[in-house]
Amino acid sequence: MSSKCILEAKNLYKKYKDLVAVNGINFCVREGEIFGFLGPNGAGKTTTVRMFCGLTKITSGDAYIDGHSITSEGKKVKKIIGVVPDISNLYSELTCLDNLLFSGEMYGIPKKKRVEKAEELLRFFGLWRRRNTKFKNLSKGLKRRLTLAAALMHDPKILFLDEPTLGLDVLSKRSMWDKIIKLNDMGTTIFLTTHNIYEAFKICQRIAVINKGEIVAIEKPEGLRRMFSAREVLEVSFIPNNPPAKELYSIKGIINVKFERGVFKLVVENPLDTLEEIVMYAKRKGLGVSTLSLRGADAEEVFLNIIGKER
Ligand code: ATP
Repeated sequence: MSSKCILEAKNLYKKYKDLVAVNGINFCVREGEIFGFLGPNGAGKTTTVRMFCGLTKITSGDAYIDGHSITSEGKKVKKIIGVVPDISNLYSELTCLDNLLFSGEMYGIPKKKRVEKAEELLRFFGLWRRRNTKFKNLSKGLKRRLTLAAALMHDPKILFLDEPTLGLDVLSKRSMWDKIIKLNDMGTTIFLTTHNIYEAFKICQRIAVINKGEIVAIEKPEGLRRMFSAREVLEVSFIPNNPPAKELYSIKGIINVKFERGVFKLVVENPLDTLEEIVMYAKRKGLGVSTLSLRGADAEEVFLNIIGKER
């Protein structure tokens, strides 16, 4: 990932009548990253993306994509970006191949190149065997993949994905994540809008959290975890027998004890210090420590903390 900002929002502001949907936000998306835009319903995610793509008029402020202003150089910007809307914009009566060719034609790509690119994308997305199937006859997961393929016909530098896995089953979701990561490996910057916290934590390199039109945090997933959850969970079990749960409260640094399927889940403030205390406790009691693992707070906890702190 380079340190160059391929997308830079500067005091971007949008008002619908008397409702402020996006309240003067500033941030930079670095070239080559998967940038997550995470927020609850109504936070202002779609409005922001629609402004970047020239689909909604900006009230004030501006944004620059690869150095071009979205307010005064909209035509140039459109050539650089790819947009995958949450509802597909493809034609149900056209085949997969024809949909891609049509999309290429809209971008003014010469015929020979269009055909080559469409074939390359059909193979990349595992749709080659279905190239002559009409769009309407594809499964939901495959429809989503073809919609993504169509947005790539003109080799955009940055791709905007709006809730790419919404409504997909687990396998289709995984396959979509794989494709997004591969595209990113091949050099495309990804701007991913989601309210799926797990998705953001799993595939994004940095995440902006937006709430009520304002950015409340921009961090790497680990950074968000560190910022908003001081507490971590240690999983421990003892041999030959686990002691009664209430005994563990005597160990320094343990805030809460839960016992599930043979393992204690200990909420601790400082895992390293507590670890030492646990080992000393086991020695005193003539026990051995069998399971021992540290789990960070999960994505959902972190997210609720962020939104909660903001409130
Ligand atoms: P979701 O995850 O539900 O799609 P979002 O984060 O994308 O939410 P937006 O759709 O950007 O949020 O909406 C931000 C705010 O702007 C909301 O209060 C919404 O009701 C309002 N809004 C969005 N579009 C319009 C519109 N065309 N006219 C008036 N208000 C709008």
